[in-house]
Amino acid sequence: MDSFDVCIAGAGVVGLGIAYQLSISERYRSKSIAILDSESDFGRVTSSRNSEVIHAGIYYPENSLKAQLCVEGKTLLYEFLEKNTIPYKKTGKLIVAQKGEEQELLEIKMNAERNQVTDLEWVDQEKLRSIEPNLSATAALHSPSTGIIDSHTYMKKLLWYAEDNGAYFAPRTQVDQVEKVGRNFLVTTKLMQNPRKEETYKFLCNEFINSAGLNAQQLARKMIGMDTSNVPALYLCKGDYFSFSGKSPFKHLIYPIPEKNYTGLGIHSTIDMSGQTRFGPDTEYIDQPDYEVDPRKMDAFASSIAKYFPEIDPAQLQPAYSGVRPKISGPGSIAADFSIQGPNTHGVEGLVQLFGMESPALTASLAIAKYVEAMLKP
Ligand SMILES: Cc1cc2nc3c(=O)[nH]c(=O)nc-3n(C[C@H](O)[C@H](O)[C@H](O)COP(=O)(O)OP(=O)(O)OC[C@H]3O[C@@H](n4cnc5c(N)ncnc54)[C@H](O)[C@@H]3O)c2cc1C
Repeated sequence: MDSFDVCIAGAGVVGLGIAYQLSISERYRSKSIAILDSESDFGRVTSSRNSEVIHAGIYYPENSLKAQLCVEGKTLLYEFLEKNTIPYKKTGKLIVAQKGEEQELLEIKMNAERNQVTDLEWVDQEKLRSIEPNLSATAALHSPSTGIIDSHTYMKKLLWYAEDNGAYFAPRTQVDQVEKVGRNFLVTTKLMQNPRKEETYKFLCNEFINSAGLNAQQLARKMIGMDTSNVPALYLCKGDYFSFSGKSPFKHLIYPIPEKNYTGLGIHSTIDMSGQTRFGPDTEYIDQPDYEVDPRKMDAFASSIAKYFPEIDPAQLQPAYSGVRPKISGPGSIAADFSIQGPNTHGVEGLVQLFGMESPALTASLAIAKYVEAMLKP
């Protein structure tokens, strides 16, 4: 039977970040690493259905993994993008207050400072008018370290490094079952290379990383010989985007005050690397992954956007795309932290499972990867 030192289930930005990090590390450099994904290529699920924003680390609770890994990850990511000439732009972001919301803005600033994000600047209404004439707000916080990224090129580069260092990537390979056998894991996969014929392929590995995003819980519950009591519930929270036709009304990314309990960051305005403006994502808890954007949401989008962009013409909005957040907190609950479970949680040496890897996991991907590597160290 074939065997690998490490198997990573899931080639989204998190799994690819881990593959990259292990492949360059002293301990893993000479080890065999397999990255498996059920899709036909890397990054086809949540990692290609997001806002592509490099977050500063402003909102997350002090000492949370989201705060620590976002702030560390942002620095690592900018360095990586610069070094590898991957397209990105430090656009900066404005979090805007309407009349009566200024106190909330101040609290956001204080929270950011507790997270060591100390570069936020208070912008008054007069200055706002001069820097963003289409914007309607009484005050704003300017975050100069927020930016946008070409996430596909970033993921491609992570995979390129991992493969160049000897890692093996297998698309159309779904991990169906993992069983603890002595000091190893017996991994059963379904090969979907031939659409007319499914094959089963089994192999052994010493270390197994469950980075299956929306399917991480399902995979964890199928593990044989391992306690599943720590596997958190999964709540799917969809976010739809509408694109804006015409010239971008803003130079910065524009965010309203976040939703209650930080379920989402409010319908914001972002720009992609081609200069296209999009609004979203909203938040909608759903039962099954579904990526259709309901055009009937257009009026609700237009009225949210009109609070900070009164000139919005709903006819300029077109349904664009959507993504699904793999949340581990349900409707009405306070947003949960990332849940990255290693031997200290479940008692199984060599096993790391990642749950609830919603935003800011793209930004934090390189820091998450280092965190996982440290968890694997005996
Ligand atoms: C609407 C939205 C907006 C967001 N905006 C931002 C943002 O602006 N900035 C930011 O930092 N973050 C953002 N995020 C978060 C970010 O996109 C995700 O946290 C990140 O993409 C998660 O990556 P992942 O690798 O964990 O998951 P995924 O990208 O979902 O990858 C998991 C992979 O596992 C594979 N897989 C699943 N099951 C199996 C199996 N059994 N066997 C083999 N492979 C399997 C899947 O095919 C998939 O490729 C946003 C998320 C959403 C939903």
